[in-house]
Amino acid sequence: MSFEFRVEATAGCARKGRLITPHGEVETPVFMPVGTLASVKGASQDILEDLGVQILLGNTYHLYLRPGIEQVRKLGGLHRFMSWNRAILTDSGGFQVFSLNDLRKVTEEGVMFRSHLDGSSHFFSPESAMEAQIGLGADIIMAFDECTEHPASGERVRQSMELTLRWAERSKRYFEAHKHEVPWANHAGPDIPSRQPGEARRLAKLPSAEPARRPAPTSADATQALFGIVQGGMDPALRQESAQRTIETGFPGYAIGGLSVGEPRALTREIVEATIQHLPADKPRYLMGVGTPEEIVEYATLGIDMMDCVLPTRAARHGLLFTSEGKVSIKQARYAGDQGPLDPRCGCRVCVRYSRAYLRHLYASNEVLAQVLNTIHNLSFYLDTMRAVRHSIELGEKVRSLSEVWSPPEP
Ligand SMILES: [Zn+2]
Repeated sequence: MSFEFRVEATAGCARKGRLITPHGEVETPVFMPVGTLASVKGASQDILEDLGVQILLGNTYHLYLRPGIEQVRKLGGLHRFMSWNRAILTDSGGFQVFSLNDLRKVTEEGVMFRSHLDGSSHFFSPESAMEAQIGLGADIIMAFDECTEHPASGERVRQSMELTLRWAERSKRYFEAHKHEVPWANHAGPDIPSRQPGEARRLAKLPSAEPARRPAPTSADATQALFGIVQGGMDPALRQESAQRTIETGFPGYAIGGLSVGEPRALTREIVEATIQHLPADKPRYLMGVGTPEEIVEYATLGIDMMDCVLPTRAARHGLLFTSEGKVSIKQARYAGDQGPLDPRCGCRVCVRYSRAYLRHLYASNEVLAQVLNTIHNLSFYLDTMRAVRHSIELGEKVRSLSEVWSPPEP
């Protein structure tokens, strides 16, 4: 068995489930930290393991440019290269091509683009994006799609959606023909030492993190799972059509793409709701590129199973910290003499050890440790938030908001 998804409990529209991948199990709803260049900026792999991260996201576009797909493939694939024996998801490269390249040229065949590093010309097609993702060897890979810009005319959104549907079929055809070329397909078993999640204290009302099960040995018949992506801009009817036709092509999981591209948040929610009702209940649903702590709770309650965003790590590097009492900009002078913990309700290794005054000093002094500690707290806050959401779903309780997730336990 290469890939499986089980729904284990529901509360309203929300579901608690489990993804079973060739590199271990992932409890859902899950927030996936982004490791753009085979690294989550500011947090080493052993820290990510201690935080209970079960799946990471890698960016195909960035890895294709540096260090190159062939180099990663020769080194045994992304898992072995970065010494990460748990699950990985890679995007198709499409989103970065669209967001980082003003000079791109889209044709039926694919996208010509220039490297943001040195201006050199490159070409991605559904076939080459699949070849790249098979070479990297993530457990879950994504069909090559066009992320429609916002705002866009109705005609433009339809044409873009039709192109994504044709590219989805080409992605699947190439994947089915080449899926056994994944770098770990013929390994006897995992050879990367992997620790169990540590003893970091958690949000008090929660059970401690369930130790991730050792990954099953990857065997010759283990393959990646290719997910389809629903597009259709901000038009609910096109979203429905895109969902139905993507399901006809047939994938083990479905992503909602083309959101968080500058539209108001109320519209994002409306489109998520309009799309989700047309997705199969027994397959994982992945909302790409969201969001704030409030949003990841909100989308989990709507029935989203997977989310990813650079926000917790990027904000951390800018001194913006998410806490149970709201956002804290640690650079502010008001924290210079504050001996309290960053977040009194957070049990992460940063909050149990360091004061706001020290974190403010590190940031003001431009110490590397500021970025490390801020990243650990923000990731921990996101992961604990999702852990609490899963716990509530398991108890059959509807979660309504972030503040409810982090409210003090009943006396
Ligand atoms: Zn913390």
